[in-house]
Amino acid sequence: MKRKGTWLCEKCGSKQEEMFKSCSCGHHVFLEKEEFEKRKIAFEEGKIEFQFNDGGRKEAGFKGTTGDCVTRAIAIATGKPYKEVYDAINELGKREYITKKKKSKSNSRTGVYKQTIRRYMEGLGWKWTPTMFIGSGCKVHLRKDELPSGVLLLSLSKHSATVINGVLHDIYDCSRNGTRCVYGYFSKE
Ligand SMILES: [Zn+2]
Repeated sequence: MKRKGTWLCEKCGSKQEEMFKSCSCGHHVFLEKEEFEKRKIAFEEGKIEFQFNDGGRKEAGFKGTTGDCVTRAIAIATGKPYKEVYDAINELGKREYITKKKKSKSNSRTGVYKQTIRRYMEGLGWKWTPTMFIGSGCKVHLRKDELPSGVLLLSLSKHSATVINGVLHDIYDCSRNGTRCVYGYFSKE
């Protein structure tokens, strides 16, 4: 390792004259410029591509936008008609119980509980793979270089979206510029 030179903070990119201090951002891993640039390019190249896809909502005659991300993501992932998924989710919602902790039922338009998504997807033969574990931090981000190929229905914080071979299908780019954490995904066996 060179003694002299300029290092860049791995996290925020700010310059550092001394290797042994902590960066003002709190991070303490520094890289030489060449390595920093190499990683930056790799980071950019690994980002997901975005494709607008409403899952067939508009075509099915629905107006406006709502909190239908689960319905949309399932319709895109499975190739089922939007209305069919919409109705199936509402049917499953009707069978849910209201408890002290769970004050509402799953609804295609406003939000679907995780257990209900799982019940529906597993019923269609899809397998759940968790990618986030308590106390281990985020291991998989919404990026094509961190996700397997194929069709994946992703579970994100307060959102669901489908990725098809490295392309994100949603009504907006929800990848947070390649930094959003993936909690887990459904894939067809
Ligand atoms: Zn920093």
